[in-house]
Amino acid sequence: MFVDKATIKVKAGNGGNGAVAFHREKFVAAGGPDGGDGGRGGNVVLAVDNNMSTLMDFRYKRKYTAENGGDGGGKRCFGKDGQDLVIKVPQGTVVRDKESGAIIWDMSKGSPFVLAKGGSGGWGNKHFATPTRQTPRFAKAGLPGEAKEVVLELKLLADVGLVGFPNVGKSTLLSVVSKAHPKIANYHFTTLYPNLGVVFVDEGVSFVMADIPGIIEGAADGAGLGHDFLRHIDRCRLIIHVVDVSGSEGRDPIEDFEAINAELSQYSADLAERPQIVVANKIDIAEDEEMVQRFRDYIKEQGLELFEISAAAHMGVKDLVKHTAWKLAELPPVTVYEPDIVEIVEEPCKPEDIIVTQYDDVWVLEGEWLERLVRNVNFSDYESRMYFDRMLRGSGIFERLEQMGINEGDTVSIFDLEFEYQN
Ligand code: GDP
Ligand code: MG
Repeated sequence: MFVDKATIKVKAGNGGNGAVAFHREKFVAAGGPDGGDGGRGGNVVLAVDNNMSTLMDFRYKRKYTAENGGDGGGKRCFGKDGQDLVIKVPQGTVVRDKESGAIIWDMSKGSPFVLAKGGSGGWGNKHFATPTRQTPRFAKAGLPGEAKEVVLELKLLADVGLVGFPNVGKSTLLSVVSKAHPKIANYHFTTLYPNLGVVFVDEGVSFVMADIPGIIEGAADGAGLGHDFLRHIDRCRLIIHVVDVSGSEGRDPIEDFEAINAELSQYSADLAERPQIVVANKIDIAEDEEMVQRFRDYIKEQGLELFEISAAAHMGVKDLVKHTAWKLAELPPVTVYEPDIVEIVEEPCKPEDIIVTQYDDVWVLEGEWLERLVRNVNFSDYESRMYFDRMLRGSGIFERLEQMGINEGDTVSIFDLEFEYQN
């Protein structure tokens, strides 16, 4: 089965929590803080596997979760880093954000890509000791790993794409010029999924040709098979437009040619402007010389190049291949999509949004504003801690707590970060 689109959910590992622990030794009344850091959460990584040619693996497995980082422990024990989860995808896979459709990455770039970053581990309390705070009773929580829902889309990497009505001889042409073995038969839609073939032209000169299922009128509107497969020629540098000039199906070659081009431009204006070489196939059984001549004149009027061949009889095929290679040498390389800039719209959230919940002498503070603040503070750095302190005070939260009746010595808890309240 050929699957070329799949939606998956990925979740990177959460960072482990830092530990709050104190060194204990016999005869030592109170040792120093020795809580270790949490481990980093595993990333979700995409990597190209050249042996894969479809996205079928993603049809049944849609959720991918990397390992969480381990929590830190006492005695300065570091939590274990979570293992990265590597997801293999075929060459040419384009990754899009499910919601916006924006391109996140094009795997044609070749190297592995970190799709979701693991959360960093929280610092253990040993980081927070200062000359005036010998017994820090807080550690930082690990940060959550990134979670994403993405659409994987396979867009084959081919230099040349074959287009044309069903049964005009596209698969035959591919099988003649390359070692590919597409299914060939005298009925419509024998080709149900794209085929790739490498065409060797000369020492060191070759190109990749893609045969996609025949396009029919209305394909761009979703009729038949063609539309979905057009994405596989999106990247092609050149289109070979195959037309049956034998009239064997009772159609007119000029009308065929125009109908296919209309489909292409409906699918994408960009694709419609891709350079085309026109191939008049089945010239061996073309009996209506007048029809062939009309087609020749018509293509000439369009300023396009025409090759008259018989794919089945191997006539004119060599010239076509040579000319194609020559033309490709002048064209830009296969398109690799640049990531769209995914704009992060920060929702306005204000310190007033802090939610306070009281459990006896523990005051739990939550809210988006706070979460963002905590995430952006490096608690191992003195300046950062001062900044955190200033921001908290500036938010007016302590006045609120006072009003609510907080007592000196009560515990304030902010996302696993705890401290004693002192005015
Ligand atoms: P596709 O649907 O465009 O891929 O067409 P196929 O390659 O499957 O060919 C459709 C039919 O046309 C098959 O029966 C082929 O043998 C036949 N065919 C292809 N090329 C030629 C040709 O140049 N001359 C003749 N006489 N028949 C051909
Ligand atoms: Mg075919």
